[in-house]
Formats: sequence, structure tokens, C-alpha cells
Amino acid sequence: MINVSQPSLGAEELKAVQEVFASNWIGKGARVDAFEAAFAEHIGVPRENVATLNTCTEALFLSMQLLGIGPGDDVVLPTLSFVAQANAIAAHGARPVFCDVDPRTQNPTLEDVKAAITPATKAVMVLHFGGHPGEVAQIAEFCRSRNLFLIEDSANSVASRVDGQACGTFGDIGAWSFDYAKMVVAVDGGMIYARDPELIERARKIAFFGLEQESNSSQAERHANRWWDIEVGSFGRRTIMNDVHAAVGHVQLGKLPSFVAHRKQITERYNALLADVPGVVTPPPLPPGHENSYYFYWVQLPEGVRDQVAKELYARGIYTTYRYTPLHKVKAYDSDASLPKAEQAAECTLNLPIHQALTESDVDTVVTALRAAMRRIHVH
Ligand SMILES: *Cc1c(COP(=O)(O)O)cnc(C)c1O
Repeated sequence: MINVSQPSLGAEELKAVQEVFASNWIGKGARVDAFEAAFAEHIGVPRENVATLNTCTEALFLSMQLLGIGPGDDVVLPTLSFVAQANAIAAHGARPVFCDVDPRTQNPTLEDVKAAITPATKAVMVLHFGGHPGEVAQIAEFCRSRNLFLIEDSANSVASRVDGQACGTFGDIGAWSFDYAKMVVAVDGGMIYARDPELIERARKIAFFGLEQESNSSQAERHANRWWDIEVGSFGRRTIMNDVHAAVGHVQLGKLPSFVAHRKQITERYNALLADVPGVVTPPPLPPGHENSYYFYWVQLPEGVRDQVAKELYARGIYTTYRYTPLHKVKAYDSDASLPKAEQAAECTLNLPIHQALTESDVDTVVTALRAAMRRIHVH
């Protein structure tokens, strides 16, 4: 089976884990510190503006808590978002208000965001679909002018930039994921960025039971009298990262430039080979100054053929999928929005395999199978 995505973990990651085991400290400690510092450098922000977490989902939930978003507040987000984004909003008692997207990039335009703003809007939450930055710079400027918070789910865009600025750092809070399906894998893990370092300080406490003194491997505070006493400043939980995961993530972060380069080659090969396949539309080109992470590769097919093409490819050992199912259609969010551009994109888009282990010959296999499926299914 050719997977649509898969991690590439190897000997270096195993060696890093072995070193953590040998150190007898597997909790949050020196490796987490080092990973946070390296990630801050990667996205070009001071160290005090980021903190690791156990997941990106936790970063999204924390964003609501840290910005004080709750009952009576609306948060605008594209309907083609990941389920964790809408859950973070709804779980805090706020209302997710879904906006439409550009059907080609599947990112919301500034106009799409504006059209969904209500008097109760307190924040906008975007992702960068498949790694395409989209109009994030314009959306950030708009949010600042209207005193709206901007939260960026940067799980798709760990290496994406606009004019050199990392996606995830345009707004008030950014969130990244290091789960099994992402480009930088820490087995599991998340990162939060906040423009205001005080929010990160609060996040660190909430992520460790709300204790005023953060627990780590440092011995210093243990020399105090009665070091077992605690002070609870908020009713926090336990959503910190550990050193085993951080060690894996740090090795992967070092490999990120080569991962991006490989995925760029895959993307260019797909684009070239699919250019003349009738009925197949390849992803739009990047605007000047935009850098992609190449997290997804997708094609758009004529109305009514996508599902059948996916089935045929699956029968030939090629796994494809669609991301992200329109959330305004999901019953739990109780939306009555009609978002025709997103609905159309959601019916015709198919994500093709892209990952670091995918070879040129795998790409050729996928393209040959797609060409054959289109010839059979797409009558024109
Ligand atoms: C993977 C993903 C998440 C969730 O990340 P976890 O670390 O698994 O919680 C959130 N948003 C987007 C866009 C994602 O791709």
C-alpha cells in the first residue's frame, strides 16, 4: 500500500531516545528545554514566547482560555478546519462561526473572513491549508485594526513563511502539532506561541496542575525547606511534553529542511506529470514571497467523480483521502451557514500520497493509476 502520509523515524531518533532512557530522567527536563529553544529559533521568535505541550489540540484549547474567550463570544474560522479547532471554541462556550474559503487554495480570503464577522466576534482562527500560507498577513492586519484576536493553527505549516515570517507568528497565538502524521514527529506533542510572553508563563502553569512553581529536573528549588509544599494558582491539568518526545522531535526538526526539499520535489513531479491529464486540476501556484511546507498534495476533479476515483486507487493499493470535511455540515456545531465555495471544494478535492519515503517511482505509479481511473470514470 502506498500511504497518503507516514512518519520517517530512524536510527538517529532511536539513539536520542536511548540517551534519554540512560539519563534516568524521562519527564520534562533538559530535552524539552533544548527542543523549545530550537523551535523558537526555527520560527524566529524569542525563547520566552513558546512552550511545548502534549498536543496541538491542547494549544488550541489553551488559546481560548488564555485569551478569555467564552460564552457570548463568536470565533470565526474556515469551515475547512480540523475538528479540534471548532471543539476548542465550542468547549469554552463560545460559538464557532464558519466562513467560506477560496475553492482552489481552500484557505479563507480576507473577504471570506470579513463576511462572517458579527458584533459578537472576539477572535479569528485560521489554518494554512496543506502548508499554503494563504492571506494570513492581510487577515492579521485586519484583526489588529478591529481589535480581534487572531489564532493560527499552524499544524499544516511548520515550515511555511510569508516574506520570511513564519506562519503561526502573525497573530496573538500560534499552535503546532508533532503527532504521528505531521512533518516533524515527536510521537505526540504540541507547541504554543504567544505574542505576549506572559500568556506563555500562564500556559506553562496551567499545563502543570496550575502549580506556581513549575516542576522540572532542576535541583535548585529542592534545596528549599519543605520542598514538597505546593501553591496552586489556577486549576490546571497536566499537558506538558516529556523528554522522550522532545528528544525525538528535536532530531526531526533538524531534518525538516530535507523533508521540505523532498516534498517539494514530489509536488513538482506531480504537477508536471498531471498537467495534461484531462479533468485533473493541480494546486494553485504560490504567490511571490510565500514559502510552502508541502504538507498536502491535492488534485481537484470534476463534479461527481472524486469518490469513485478514490475507491479505484484504493483497490490498486494507493491510499488517498480528503481533508478537512466542512465543519458547518457537522451536526454538533449546529450551524445553518451556506458556504458554497467550500462545499464545492469538499466534493471534488482528493489528497494524494506525499511523505518523505515516497519515491519518484511511487509518484509515477499514483499518476498512472489516476490517469487510468479518470479515463474510465470521467466521461467527457
Ligand atoms: C494534526 C492537527 C491538529 C491536532 O494536532 P494534535 O497534536 O494531534 O492534537 C490540529 N489542527 C490541525 C490543522 C492538524 O493538522
